[in-house]
Amino acid sequence: MFSQYYIDKAPSSNGSFEIHVDTCMNLPVFVNRTYLGFFGSYQEAKAAALKHHAEVCACPLCCE
Ligand SMILES: [Zn+2]
Repeated sequence: MFSQYYIDKAPSSNGSFEIHVDTCMNLPVFVNRTYLGFFGSYQEAKAAALKHHAEVCACPLCCE
């Protein structure tokens, strides 16, 4: 299933940037997230996110 993916503009406590889908409870507010695109899997979103940040991680609520 395709979803719209976003990445947080602020790093989490471990220094990596969390990836979310647009339906996530923990999705950052609009000004604090960057749109990645419309992808069929987390792995595809992660590949796009790595163009923004060297350290990215899956949100435990929506990406696992
Ligand atoms: Zn999430």
